[in-house]
Amino acid sequence: MFKNQIVRAVNTCSIDYYLLALWYLFKIKYLFFSDNIPLIRNLRSIVNDIDIYEWDKAREKFILNILNYNEAITNRTISLFGTQYGRFVRFFMEYQKHYVIRTCNVKCQLNNTNLSESDHIYFEKENNTLNFTFRTAAPKNCGLCQSLLTLNVQFINSPNFLFIESLLNNIYISDFPETVFLDNKIFKLLCVTIVRGNHFTAIFKLNNKYYLVDDLGRLFKEIDTSIPKRGQAAFYPSTCSLYYLE
Ligand SMILES: [Zn+2]
Repeated sequence: MFKNQIVRAVNTCSIDYYLLALWYLFKIKYLFFSDNIPLIRNLRSIVNDIDIYEWDKAREKFILNILNYNEAITNRTISLFGTQYGRFVRFFMEYQKHYVIRTCNVKCQLNNTNLSESDHIYFEKENNTLNFTFRTAAPKNCGLCQSLLTLNVQFINSPNFLFIESLLNNIYISDFPETVFLDNKIFKLLCVTIVRGNHFTAIFKLNNKYYLVDDLGRLFKEIDTSIPKRGQAAFYPSTCSLYYLE
């Protein structure tokens, strides 16, 4: 129900996989935030719906209470077409707010100082390795001492999970590390969303196996990620990934 009419939600692939992933973290891994804030209360209620296979209810609650959908409706249809960041991830960024700490040279007066507060965390691929980057156009060298800059984060809250965005569309499932180390904590890979044309699918890593999840046709099947051939999930670029504190 939306503004007193029955509407249909379409193109929900922008929200389905991370709803499923958060359900997994809440119900299977018992991860939760103690904060009694509206977002988490809403999320708990959504997770409980998913638990009893009430996906339509879960999506409705997400659209009304978290996304606060307020766009025009045509043909009684809500389209969630868009990016995963715009449709889902941005509502959770508050938890991964952090200071970006810059390190250059111990003798430099800018060494170990804070850059501004941020909430984005990106993977950037260089020489076939993924590095973190915390701003899209970070200078490579210190403006004062010219030494190579290293950026680290210090979380303001204690996030249980992190959304890491893929900076460019050149990062594939085989590039993602099993674990990442940030602010002295180890986070483990759960889910990577990939884009193929206009449709998102996701790859979940569970018990060292990879599973392709597609909300069209409700597909959930084990895949071999070492075959980056057209038509195989490993061939298509990622948009975002979800890591959790184990
Ligand atoms: Zn410096």
